[in-house]
Parts: sequence; C-alpha cells; structure tokens
Amino acid sequence: MHETLSKITNRISRIILIVGVLGMSNASAETKPAIVIHGGAGTITRASLTDEKESSIRAALKSSVQAGYQALLDGASSTEAVAAAINVMEDSPLFNAGKGAVFNADGKNEMDASIMEGAGLNAGAVASVTHIRNPIDLALKVMTDSEHVMLMGEGAEEFARQQGFEMEDPAYFRTDFRWQQLQRIKAKEAAKQQVTTDDQHDQWFSTVGAVALDQQGNLAAGTSTGGTSNKRWGRVGDSPIIGAGTYANNNSCAVSATGHGEFFIRYVVAYNICNRVELGTPLAEAAETVVNDILVKAKGEGGIIAMDAAGNIATPFNSEGMYRASIDTDGNMSISIYREEGEPEGALIGNVEH
Ligand code: ASP
Repeated sequence: MHETLSKITNRISRIILIVGVLGMSNASAETKPAIVIHGGAGTITRASLTDEKESSIRAALKSSVQAGYQALLDGASSTEAVAAAINVMEDSPLFNAGKGAVFNADGKNEMDASIMEGAGLNAGAVASVTHIRNPIDLALKVMTDSEHVMLMGEGAEEFARQQGFEMEDPAYFRTDFRWQQLQRIKAKEAAKQQVTTDDQHDQWFSTVGAVALDQQGNLAAGTSTGGTSNKRWGRVGDSPIIGAGTYANNNSCAVSATGHGEFFIRYVVAYNICNRVELGTPLAEAAETVVNDILVKAKGEGGIIAMDAAGNIATPFNSEGMYRASIDTDGNMSISIYREEGEPEGALIGNVEH
C-alpha cells in the first residue's frame, strides 16, 4: 500500500517537474524580440537639415534598426544585436561614432563605448581609443574575454591587438564635416568669442546607441561615441560609463543615453531610470521624470532610449530632436528625428546655458 502510494507520489512529482521545465522553456521561447536605436540628440530642426541629409540619416537609422532586429530574429543574443545595430552607425560617416567621430582639441578622434547585458549584469567598456574601427565590438570583447569592465587608451588597444582586432589608420575616422566643425569652434575660441549654444550643440551630437530584448527574454544596452568636439585633457563623457550612459538589468530595463555627458554622469541617468523601474515605476514615467524633470532642472540637455523586459519602449528627450528608430514586439518599425505629435515640448529648447 505504502509502496503504491510512494510510486504515485514519485510519478506526480516527475510530471510536475516535466510540466515546469516545459513551461519555462515555453515562456522563454515566446519572448518576441524588439529593438530601439538612437543616433544622438541635440538641436535638430527641420531648417537645419537639408532634405538630402535627412533622407540619408533616415536610411542609416533604418539599416541599423533592421540589422539589429534581423540578428534578434536569427536567434542572436540582445548584446550581439545591440552591437550589430551600433556597427551600422559606427560605419556611417553621418554619426559621431567610429567613422565620423568628432575631433578632440589635438585634432584626433578619440572614441568611447560600452555595452551591458541585463541577464547577469555583465558589462564591458572602452575609453579614448583611437585605432578601433568599431569600439562597441571591443567593449563587447572586454565583457566576454577579460575579467575587467573598463579599459582605456593604449591598454585597451593592446588588449584589442591580443584579441586579433585590426588597428585602423587614424585617417579612416576623419570626415570633412567634423574637421570643419572643430575649426569653427577653435576659431571662436581664438577670437575669444563666446561659444554660442549652437556651437555647444555642435560639440555633442550624434552619439549612437541601442537597447534590445532577445528571444530568451534578455535585455541589453550599448552606446558608442566620439565624445565632444574640441574635448581636451583626456575628457571622457557618460557613454562608456556603466550606469550613466548605458545600463541593463532584466529586473528593470535597458537604457542608452545621449546628451551633455557631464550631467548624465552626475545624475547617473541610465541607472537612475532602471532603479525607478525596479522599485515599481512604469518605464515611461521613470524615463520622463529623469529626462524631462530632473535633467531639465539641472539644465542637462539630451535624451535616452529605454526598453523594459515586457518590450515597452520609451524615448524621451529634452532637446529639439533625437535621431531614433525602433521595431517593437509586434514587428512595427518607426523612424523619427523631430518631436512627434503628442510628445511633450522639449523643456530645454532655447534656454540651456552650458
Ligand atoms: N554623451 C556624449 C558625451 O558626452 C555625447 C553625445 O551624446 O553626443 O560624450
């Protein structure tokens, strides 16, 4: 009698175990992937963009978001998809990352990048690299193949060489547009003219980033930039700093930022948003509070892209525009540059003093 009872109990627990395992794998297989990218925030008015430039930017945003989404559909992890999307913008001369990065005060392109996965809070970052074609790939390598989170300058490049990265000639990163931008800022400095808000906007603009949710339900975020034009003294902004420019945690959200980096570091923007989400605030509200209340009060201009584990998307910015694109969990694509109807006014338009 006892034996029969224990056999039945055993069988029941085995069935419960099998159902449990099936349930788990079903849950993960059911996650519909989604991705959001940005190509920087700043003074982006219709008047400041020619039709031609606007359509090239829209086309580049589209290729980037589609590359990331396709990777997700093919079963890539969210970190791989984030890197794939960012690679497209790093390779385009239109953005301040990889080719097309801004120049520092010494006329060099010095780049920063970071990436983080929401599953285990692993992260990788590089700062001030000058020969790496795709800094986001090196950040990913730091995450997967070193015991560190952040490497900088020559050390980061030595690590890259050891990992088989090809060193790019610095001339590869040069674009005439960015060179002229540096000359304008330098001429004003030399003439002791006040650097205007427009010049300031010129200085930090078109950083790129991506956040993604993969089929396993894992979030990731990444950011890549040349930093600010005419930067000196080894200045590093928020983009390679985990918690400031980039953050991902499956328990809350994934965030990539763009804007006046010093403010994003001080207000720990990416983590600040995710922490609010972890404590129960909906994603859109958390992102809106940090970008359009806290940062606005501090006069910190910029924006962020964010996604939570359910695939909800938020893209608030307090500047005039932000290059952005997304493909949501239903496969709907959206590409925007300016403020869309219904979005709140950029609270910092025209009143930021840097
Ligand atoms: N946040 C970047 C930095 O301060 C610049 C940008 O977003 O365009 O380096």
